[in-house]
Amino acid sequence: MSSDEVRRKTRGLLLMVVAPSGVGKTSLTRRLVADHKDLHLSISATTRQPRPGEHDGRDYHFVDNAEFDRLLADNALLEWAEVYGNRYGSPKAPIVEALERGDSALFDIDYQGAMRIKAQLPDDSVLVYILPPSLLEMRRRLEARSQDSAEVIAKRLSRAKDEVQAWSTFDYVILNEDFDRAYSDLAHIYHGEKLRTGRNLWVEPLVEGILGEGLD
Ligand code: 5GP
Repeated sequence: MSSDEVRRKTRGLLLMVVAPSGVGKTSLTRRLVADHKDLHLSISATTRQPRPGEHDGRDYHFVDNAEFDRLLADNALLEWAEVYGNRYGSPKAPIVEALERGDSALFDIDYQGAMRIKAQLPDDSVLVYILPPSLLEMRRRLEARSQDSAEVIAKRLSRAKDEVQAWSTFDYVILNEDFDRAYSDLAHIYHGEKLRTGRNLWVEPLVEGILGEGLD
């Protein structure tokens, strides 16, 4: 069986990576996607304004409130949530297409969104939490980044505390103290999850073939 045939007979997975802002989640997830051509980043739609350096269609689909309402009315989102006063949602169509091709999707979304996707698609979902080494250190990084007001930073820290408390509801927890180590952990999770028996639909016909070879 060629590697393309194997890929078509493999069910992809939905890898959801949740982390408080400022712990390096974007660098980790972008590298994982760049290193794996069968893994596609789910680009969320958001009503938030682009930050400096962000591009429409690459970081987010930046939409206005009317467009977001239209996406909701068309049932075009797998989930959506309001975060810090802005709405964010995961477009459904590219995810369904990726799974049908045997590819996987990576979601850079918040805890509520990840839990909602897992509730809808429990067998396909894998939830990873990136744990910051300390919340004080996280506050320092957010302040140094100086993208957010003191009020937003306080909200992000309080949300991070709630997520850290929910650590045991994730399938995996990675400590992001050292980038290379955290990246290696994330890549191993992805590879291991792809090897799960239930995702590898090519095994059954192969085993039937092996058993039918006839040893007598
Ligand atoms: P930021 O504005 O910093 O890019 O994102 C704020 C929060 O919204 C982050 O926790 C991010 O993961 C989350 N987020 C981004 N896209 C989505 C989405 O499509 N759905 C949900 N539920 N959360 C999202």
